[in-house]
Amino acid sequence: MNDQPGRGAAPPSPHLSLHPETLAISAGTDPASAYGAVKPPLVLTSTFTYPTAAAAKEAHRTFFEGAAPDQAGYIYARLDHPNLRMVQQRLAALDGAEEAAAFASGMAAIAATMLAYVRPGDAIVHTAPIYGGTLGLINGLLADLGVTAHAIPDPVDPVSIEETLIDAARERRLALVLAESPANPTSGLVDLQAVLEAADRLGETGHRPLVVVDNTFLGPLNQRPLMEGADLCITSLTKYAAGHSDILGGAVTGSARHVTPVRRLRTTLGTHLDPFSSWLLLRSLETLPLRAERAAANAAAVAAFLADHPKVANVTYLGFLAEGTQARRVFNRQCRSAGSTFSFRIVGGEAEAFAMLDRLRLIRMAVSLGGTETLICHSASTTHYSVPPEVRAAVGVDDASLRISIGLEHPDDLIADLSRALSAI
Ligand SMILES: *Cc1c(COP(=O)(O)O)cnc(C)c1O
Repeated sequence: MNDQPGRGAAPPSPHLSLHPETLAISAGTDPASAYGAVKPPLVLTSTFTYPTAAAAKEAHRTFFEGAAPDQAGYIYARLDHPNLRMVQQRLAALDGAEEAAAFASGMAAIAATMLAYVRPGDAIVHTAPIYGGTLGLINGLLADLGVTAHAIPDPVDPVSIEETLIDAARERRLALVLAESPANPTSGLVDLQAVLEAADRLGETGHRPLVVVDNTFLGPLNQRPLMEGADLCITSLTKYAAGHSDILGGAVTGSARHVTPVRRLRTTLGTHLDPFSSWLLLRSLETLPLRAERAAANAAAVAAFLADHPKVANVTYLGFLAEGTQARRVFNRQCRSAGSTFSFRIVGGEAEAFAMLDRLRLIRMAVSLGGTETLICHSASTTHYSVPPEVRAAVGVDDASLRISIGLEHPDDLIADLSRALSAI
């Protein structure tokens, strides 16, 4: 018996011929390496025995010096463990990546990527708005390390993108561009092709910044940034990938060359994904294509209901982007679905928003997104509490804004709940 579950799985290349629905169920696991069990084993151990002293030396040599750490035997679970290796292979297959590194949370993945590639005194460029935790990292730890951050004013405009990159690279080394697309919570899109072209042009005369995409909002399948040419793709697995609002996780995918420094740093920081969460993710990923599709269909129905409602001022749903606009062109090029998380503004302000929220009976009030259940939150007083009102307003988040993540309930029940609650305004 092969004592290393996951090792017998197919190498990445044959994955290209299989559909995502198939990869979500099969990639990364192999019954032959686990007593013939159809489902992956859960390997709960912190450490692994070496068969011989020479094998111990060889395992360490391969892990620390080898080009492919996946070929090393297991040593200690903070470095690598069987369930981590299985889930990483599946995540890599779904993103069309050579390699993946899985982390304890999305923020652990973002922080490790930043610390692996950004040096004190560097500059970075990011899109705005950006996830609150990411902004905290940029304005906190990275600022303390002397890293300057530049926001792209209009991320669907190639001129705005190029000017920001050139400006950021003028005095310092521009280490990386972090593009969150669609943005949380406004669904603002980033023209990834324009970002990549601007990065390549900078590279012709100096350092080419790494292009990193936070793909959490649409999740794997609905958008594949590595296929667009991005260097690294980051996903908070907590959201659509895990999909049941019961675990935290994060992933970085890309070429082995780009992922390896991040994975090595994970060992130092101790922020790997634990065996049980890895195992749960393997299970969750099996239904990701189905869940994403149904949630998107439900979201289209709810968005259409809200758009027609007299108490709703506007709905920021990707499916409603007007033809002929730059945002629509970007959407058509890089997104396969409008997803199932969007924002809407009600007529009125905080008092009206709170009155409506407090009348909901089915839809739960909570932050986070991508779960089986529908969640709603008042962005200004929760996820964006610490963002100054003028900064919030600039990105279209005000006291009337609500973010909703549509789940798998029957859409008629969701619409009935919203309808009843809106009548309270
Ligand atoms: C939730 C989220 C994160 C952070 O992920 P955690 O798993 O909560 O650490 C990062 N980016 C985006 C866009 C998110 O929605």
